[in-house]
Amino acid sequence: MGATYFNSRATMHVEALSTELVPSQYSLQEMREFWTNHFQGTFDKGLFVNRYPLPKIQERYNFVTKCVTERFHTNFNLKLDIGYMPEGKQILAGSGVVDGFPTVEIIVPELMDIYRHQQQKNEPGWEERMCRMIVSSVIHEFDHLAFCNTNGTRAHPNSLDQLVENECKAWSYTCEYTIRSFIEDYGVSTGDTDEIFYDNWLKAHRNADSPLWRNFIREHYKKTR
Ligand SMILES: [Zn+2]
Repeated sequence: MGATYFNSRATMHVEALSTELVPSQYSLQEMREFWTNHFQGTFDKGLFVNRYPLPKIQERYNFVTKCVTERFHTNFNLKLDIGYMPEGKQILAGSGVVDGFPTVEIIVPELMDIYRHQQQKNEPGWEERMCRMIVSSVIHEFDHLAFCNTNGTRAHPNSLDQLVENECKAWSYTCEYTIRSFIEDYGVSTGDTDEIFYDNWLKAHRNADSPLWRNFIREHYKKTR
């Protein structure tokens, strides 16, 4: 599965900073080194080359990315952002269609903030858990691109109702096929946020149309609007 991977072209996004992203406290050099040292291998030596160590997760990644390329008739971009999302500092990843290309963005400064926080807490296995968290987050964004309404853009964001609609659907796929597989097939966690979503997915009897599920998603996302 060939992805256009912009890591080596991170300077491209400097220009976008002033208009779209909130500048981070980290230097470009720090962000590049951080990505290369801690997360690049998960993609370059794992998912991108069909060698992710958990086969069912690799399978899911292959399936959703195939759905995305079939839907848009083109390859996708995975882009590393060097500033925070204007909608909120806690946003780790996003997706959308940019100039006709389905695009997943990872917000590197937020990933660094989480990393530092986890490093301080220093719970057993935290680094591996973070690598799984980013995989789950990226697949969640592909769930959006593959199965949800992709009309929203940064300039013209979706209404809260449309956002809730999209997130109900995307998170139902992510919980059912990705988080569930990590937990049930491999007995590993992808982090606290995923666990909260999965817990609520089970409470809603794994039904994307359930009012419980819809309410949980709405509560989670209303602060971003
Ligand atoms: Zn989402």
